[in-house]
Order: sequence, then C-alpha cells, then structure tokens
Amino acid sequence: MFALATRAAQALEKMSCELEPELLDGRDAARLLEMVARWEKVCASLRARLARRVDETKVWRDGGHRSAAHFVAETAGTTVGAAARALETVRALEELPETAEAFRAGELSETQAAEIASAASEDPGAETALLETAAATSVKGLRDRCRQVRAGAQPDDEAWARHLHVSRRANRWRDNDGAWRADIRLSPDAGARVDSAWDAHLDRIFAEARRAGHREPRHAYEADAFVASVTEGPCKPIEARLEVTAAALPRGHTEPGERCEIAGSPIPVTTARALLADSRVTVLARDGNDVTEISEPTRTIPARLRRQLEARYPTCGVKTCANDRFLEIDHVVPVAEGGRSKWANAWRICPHHHHLKTYFGWKVVGTTHDWDLVPPDDPDPP
Ligand SMILES: [Zn+2]
Repeated sequence: MFALATRAAQALEKMSCELEPELLDGRDAARLLEMVARWEKVCASLRARLARRVDETKVWRDGGHRSAAHFVAETAGTTVGAAARALETVRALEELPETAEAFRAGELSETQAAEIASAASEDPGAETALLETAAATSVKGLRDRCRQVRAGAQPDDEAWARHLHVSRRANRWRDNDGAWRADIRLSPDAGARVDSAWDAHLDRIFAEARRAGHREPRHAYEADAFVASVTEGPCKPIEARLEVTAAALPRGHTEPGERCEIAGSPIPVTTARALLADSRVTVLARDGNDVTEISEPTRTIPARLRRQLEARYPTCGVKTCANDRFLEIDHVVPVAEGGRSKWANAWRICPHHHHLKTYFGWKVVGTTHDWDLVPPDDPDPP
C-alpha cells in the first residue's frame, strides 16, 4: 500500500510541477480539470477513511492531540470543525454501504457524502434516491432534497416543532475592531416573517442604489436592509407562503412524499397548523397536483371582532396571568380543526401562553369567554 501511495504521489507531484496551464487550449484544460476533480474526491475519501482509523486506534494521543479531529485538522491544514464533520460522515457511512461505495469510488465529494450520510442515517430508505439526486443536480439541489428527507423522517412532528421553538436564540456581541455582530436562530415560521420584512427593504435599497448609479456588494445591501427593517419596521405588509399537502393538516404530520414547507423550506405540520390562523401567511394546500388557496375571509380577524376582543381582554385571558403586552388573538378551536374567526371562538392571550397552547399541548377549558388554559395532563381541570 505504501509503495502504491508513493508512486501515486510522485506522479501527481510531477504533473503539478510540469503543468503549464497557459499552454493548454480551453477544452483540454476543462478535461484535465474534470479528471483532477475526481482525484480530489478520491483523496478526500482516502483521507476521511484513514482519519476514521486513526480515531479508532487512538493513535492521535501519541502526539499529544486533544482529539482525532485535532490531529486530522493539524495534519491536513483544515479547521477542527471540518475534520470533525468528516469523521462524523465516515462513521455514518458504516451503516450506508451504497453511499460508502460511491464515496470510495470518487463519485461523491466530501460535501455530498456528508449531506447524504446525515439525511440517510435518519431515513435509510432514501439513500438510493439521494445518490441519484447527487449525480443529477448541484450541491444546492442535493441539500434541499436532504432537508426534505430529514423533515419527512422526523418521528414526532410536535416534538420537532417544540424543539425549533424552544431552541430559538439571539446573541449579540462586539468584534475586536468595534463592529456589531449577531447570531440568530429562529423557528422557520418566525424566520419567514423576518425574511419577508428584510427582503422588502433589500429590494427597495437595491433599486434605489441602482437608480443612483451605486454598486456595492450584495452583503452590504443585506446589512442596510437588516438595519432598516429593525429600526423602521417593514416597508411592505409581511407575507409568507405556506405550501402543504392538504391531508397532512388534519393528521398532524406528513407521510413520505408529502410536503409542508414555508418559503420552500420544510417545517413541522404542527407549526403549519398554527400558521393557518395568521392572515399574513398565504396557504397553498396541495391535493395531488391541484393547488387550492385556502380562502382568506375565514382567516382574517375582522376589525370589529378585534376591537371587541381588545375590550374584553385588556390582559391575557388565562386566569392566573396579568400580562397586558403583545397580546395575540387565538382561535380556541384551531383553524386547522375548522375553528372560525367568530366571537364565540376567539380570545386574547399573551405570547407565552400562546406558545404553551401551540407547542406544549396545553388545552383550553371552561365555557365561552370564561376560558382557562391547563397543562396537557391536568387530572383536575377547573
Ligand atoms: Zn398569559
């Protein structure tokens, strides 16, 4: 094996020294590039599989490294994060023989192998189809498909929705040079609303810059649009587009082949059900290939009803709660279950209680406008 490796290395090094790209015509350059890209994939596969062996045998300890990933990162001149992901991929491929074979043969790049490994380990039945996708489309196309597979493989739709909600966070800090920085993680529905406001400002700023003859990188305009949407509010009404297979809504989760996506990205059906009551969201229900837009009037809260509810609920409708800020109108019987925007089916509750109802199974009990909210397994509801 070492003799072979030495010969291969000598051949490659010789070629690198002798290659004078300017002496090649374009077509030859492209052909060589294709061959080199394939070798690169083979090398990535070799490196990842050897790293796995280094990991298993714990030989990385000899050099005083903190982990196998640290050893690989130092040897290969990559980041520890990238090395750890590669190790993770090879580990996952032990259960995915078809993908492992394609990776070994140089048919997949490290990025493609990592995407397929992570999605197919959640849904092994999707492995073959994902390999075909990888061969037929770009990395972006493969990523989108993998996201759909992961979404379809979520065993518990409600738990997924809860996780996305509970794990939301935003961190702000200052860089050493004084720049303001942030890192934000949002549930997909909140993200779609932010995108809507952000994109509207981006379009506006982009058009203004073009008219004025300015040209700056897109990222700079993205930053301006972010500041504008936070400091000035949206410049157009918020809107998001939810696309869902009609049968999934009453069922509460998707079956293989069904879709539930906001702005093209898969979301839990639990989240989609909550969004049905949000008139800023356009809902396209799919029934096979037919797309029907869920009619607007059942979903918007008429101004008169809104005023009545504001008068009846100056504070959160939950009995023990005195919250009077950012109250939201909630359909007692959800729109997904046929609830309508009527006086007898609506109250105002605070965001905290709204979340408990949407994501944690809290239930509305009591009589009309004498409601309360109780935990899912309350043995003695009032
Ligand atoms: Zn409350």
